[in-house]
Amino acid sequence: MISVQQAISIVGDTSPTPRPEEVTISDALGRILAEDIVADCDLPPFDRSQMDGYAVRAADIAVVPTKLKIVGESAAGRGWHNEMKPGEAVRIMTGAPVPAGADSVQQVELTRELDGGSVVEILETAALGRSVVKRGSEIQKGQAVLRAGEKINAGAVAVLASFGYAKVKVGKRPRVAILATGSELVPVDQTPGEDQIRDSNNFSISAYAELAGALVLRLPLAGDDVAQLTRQIAEAAERSDIVVTSGGVSVGRYDFTKTVLKDLGAEIFFERVALRPGKPTVFARLPNGTLVFGLPGNPVSVSVTFNLFARIAILAMQGAAETELESGTAVLSKSVKPAKDRESYLPARLSTNNNAELIAEPLKWGGSSDFVGFVRATALIIVPQATEILEAGAKVRIVYLPN
Ligand code: AMP
Ligand code: MG
Repeated sequence: MISVQQAISIVGDTSPTPRPEEVTISDALGRILAEDIVADCDLPPFDRSQMDGYAVRAADIAVVPTKLKIVGESAAGRGWHNEMKPGEAVRIMTGAPVPAGADSVQQVELTRELDGGSVVEILETAALGRSVVKRGSEIQKGQAVLRAGEKINAGAVAVLASFGYAKVKVGKRPRVAILATGSELVPVDQTPGEDQIRDSNNFSISAYAELAGALVLRLPLAGDDVAQLTRQIAEAAERSDIVVTSGGVSVGRYDFTKTVLKDLGAEIFFERVALRPGKPTVFARLPNGTLVFGLPGNPVSVSVTFNLFARIAILAMQGAAETELESGTAVLSKSVKPAKDRESYLPARLSTNNNAELIAEPLKWGGSSDFVGFVRATALIIVPQATEILEAGAKVRIVYLPN
């Protein structure tokens, strides 16, 4: 049995290299950059006023009140492109260029226009450079502002727009086929008969896969039939980069996933991980290169193992720099008794207490089948293997669940 970290490394090392594609800026949100974003101009592109007021020379208003002659107006998008001389002022708006000769802006609230707008009385002094954002002080032309591998969030879209990236190179989204095994399963729009339940794994896996950037293909339920499972996995492999199955990987009589993968000539990288929940997780590669994650059937095991392992492949295939779940440290709110033989990932809810500490509250849940209890989880508490008990107040490592 391998450790969780070993399994994560194997998935990372096995994931194919990303393929870039070009998308328009409107389709870029949530994608992974496949190129560095380089500034094509200084920001600001000119000395810019940060206030509505008067462009002045700070030396001219060292003694106040003082009167300056208004010689022009600089508005956003329509600057005043002459040389301002000593004793002069230019009326200026936020976002407008500061004229040559001026070195500061005094805000309008500290001034008063006289003589029908030909003279301004400055009521307060201003430090040299006040309310002027110098050209290139934010970003200089040629500077890399975002790096390949970063995820494009809403702020990054503004950066793309500012530097003229109407189109941007991103990692191609992997096609992920999702397939549930289990003769007890019926589709969501049916009422379960005797001994049956509705399939929920196909939906949670799809949701998490989409959060990771995958293009999802949801397949019909496969039952526990070797022939049908073989056919469906073989067909899915033709149309996808990754197949994610759930169920059928334990040691029960009708757990056929591994048999089928072996029959199809798959290379099995691991089939047992020292993890609770999720020990029987399978990771394999079919002869055509399609990766297969055979997740256990229990809904909570599915959420944990998908996010620990399958998510890595989906992100790596898009070229993401960060593929592992974001981790942190929190204070345990009540004691937990983990499984000693494996590393445990326990569902938890995070909050902040009055001392500004991050608190992890282990959720009361009925085990790996309790997906209703799991809904409230925002993180997983990592309990190392061979831990007897973790007392309330202990510092624990956590990983954040995607949302
Ligand atoms: P298995 O790993 O196939 O032995 O399944 C373990 C448990 O998970 C059983 O109680 C199954 O009924 C349940 N299960 C398996 N697949 C699903 C699914 N797609 N949706 C909901 N529960 C499932
Ligand atoms: Mg089953």
